[in-house]
Amino acid sequence: MSNFAQKSKAMMTLKYDVVVIGGGHAGCEAACASANMGAKTLLVTMDMNKIAQMSCNPAVGGIAKGQIVREIDALGGQMGRVTDATAIQFRMLNVGKGPAVWSPRAQCDRGKFIWEWRKKLDETDNLDVWQDQACELLVEEGKKKTVKGVRTIWGAEILARCVIVTAGTFLNGLLHIGRKMVTGGRIAEPAVADFTESITRHGIRSARMKTGTPVRIDKRSVDFSLLTMQPGENHPYRFSYCSGPQNQYETSNHKPTSLPQLPCWTVNTNPEVHRILRGGLENSPLYNGQIHSIGPRYCPSIETKLVTFPDREQHPLFLEPEGVDTNEMYLNGFSSSLPMETQIEALKMMPAFKNVKVYRPGYAIEYDFFDPTQLKHTLESKLIDGLFMAGQVNGTTGYEEAAGQGLAAGVNAALKCTGEQTFVMHRDESYIGVLIDDLVTKGVDEPYRMFTSRAEYRILLRQDDADRRLTERSYELGLAKRDRYDWWMEKKQGIEDISNFCKSYAIKPREINDALEHLGTTRLQFDVNL
Ligand SMILES: Cc1cc2nc3c(=O)[nH]c(=O)nc-3n(C[C@H](O)[C@H](O)[C@H](O)COP(=O)(O)OP(=O)(O)OC[C@H]3O[C@@H](n4cnc5c(N)ncnc54)[C@H](O)[C@@H]3O)c2cc1C
Repeated sequence: MSNFAQKSKAMMTLKYDVVVIGGGHAGCEAACASANMGAKTLLVTMDMNKIAQMSCNPAVGGIAKGQIVREIDALGGQMGRVTDATAIQFRMLNVGKGPAVWSPRAQCDRGKFIWEWRKKLDETDNLDVWQDQACELLVEEGKKKTVKGVRTIWGAEILARCVIVTAGTFLNGLLHIGRKMVTGGRIAEPAVADFTESITRHGIRSARMKTGTPVRIDKRSVDFSLLTMQPGENHPYRFSYCSGPQNQYETSNHKPTSLPQLPCWTVNTNPEVHRILRGGLENSPLYNGQIHSIGPRYCPSIETKLVTFPDREQHPLFLEPEGVDTNEMYLNGFSSSLPMETQIEALKMMPAFKNVKVYRPGYAIEYDFFDPTQLKHTLESKLIDGLFMAGQVNGTTGYEEAAGQGLAAGVNAALKCTGEQTFVMHRDESYIGVLIDDLVTKGVDEPYRMFTSRAEYRILLRQDDADRRLTERSYELGLAKRDRYDWWMEKKQGIEDISNFCKSYAIKPREINDALEHLGTTRLQFDVNL
């Protein structure tokens, strides 16, 4: 790399416009956005084989989250394209409600998702990747504190005009299974010590949150004849506006998935399962005082569901594939940090899982986050000039929430390097705008996830019109590229043509009355404008 400069034997110094700490969902979008805006960008991440790892469920989108992915795509981000290329099941959720709240969701191949993201990073100009762990934020003290860069555990000093922290659940992460506690950022990955303290000593407030994940099951040990199949949809939904069989603008470097589409499966817990789980509650870190921090209310553990709804005799579970080449399956709805023997014994009380084999137990994790009310709408710190934060470190939960913030932080960091304007999306423009406005104005007292109900303008924020809302603006900023802009302009022209035709064309009774009669409705007497 040309920009490596050997400063001394003990220390190597790198110099960039923007350095992004953490290659998760926020970090990858931030790094790509910043580099695509023209800033010389470095992504520092602890493990290049875990780029954009889906810590929990290997699925993207869902209610309100699907809209965020559509917005990321309309802005020129990557999450939609990576999802399209690695999806193994698509569904449109909420179709029983009005189209404004329809939400796309895709189950993905976990391993291929990582490698597709790595391909995206490799293809991005202006972007380098450095595998290392940032352990200290470097700040210049003065009238106003200004970020200088970061230092890593291997002694590299990385200087940058802007630093974007997207460290996810890794900061002082502590894993819990029953009474056993192990430090870690995710299962089998190290926690990051000291980095939080190098930030909080400048007046930035941190606190703790908690989340959890369920067991992973070997599909060869499941009796599928006792489960109910939940197939995907034949309708070819796609996340990216520039992909899919519905348009001819599929670019050569982006093909929607060619992976086989796989079903998910449903099953219910039963009173015997609940009896075993209740028996383990005294060893539950959630109920024996071991975990003090607050978890996501809308993603409760199975033990929390039993305690909150003691009269319920069953809870629905979804068995979801982790990929096309693996026997590993994810048991959605069975998140737990009970002792592993309790988790496995309880599973075996469901006939389909009588002989179940488990790859890894469920666990809970506690981690640091930073008070997002100390950020501006650009996601830049109010206290340290040039420091940006995005993703789980701002108190959110979810890949999509993280990615949306990452993109916004990446754009703003790049703009700051050139001293240009800032990029803020308003509440009537995007779910990402709602998310960031909620974070920086209201703060968080529990992990924040997006819902359609959080957006008062949700009728305007449809999953199918994010390109109308955002693509032109992003192109003017320099993020969305020409092919995306041209595709949108052609679509826009098509919409205008249809709209003008409808305004000007008067339909005649003889053209429509047979159809109206067939529909059981009133016939026309006169010409009527469409
Ligand atoms: C056990 C568990 C269960 C979860 N369950 C759910 C759930 O049910 N529903 C839900 O919506 N979300 C859940 N999540 C949260 C979801 O995984 C996150 O919201 C999402 O991954 C956040 O993305 P991120 O980019 O902010 O961070 P992450 O995806 O965590 O990525 C952080 C990245 O930063 C790197 N990193 C960290 N510190 C450093 C450093 N100092 N130097 C270099 N690299 C660093 C890490 O290696 C990692 O690659 C769960 C997470 C975990 C761990």
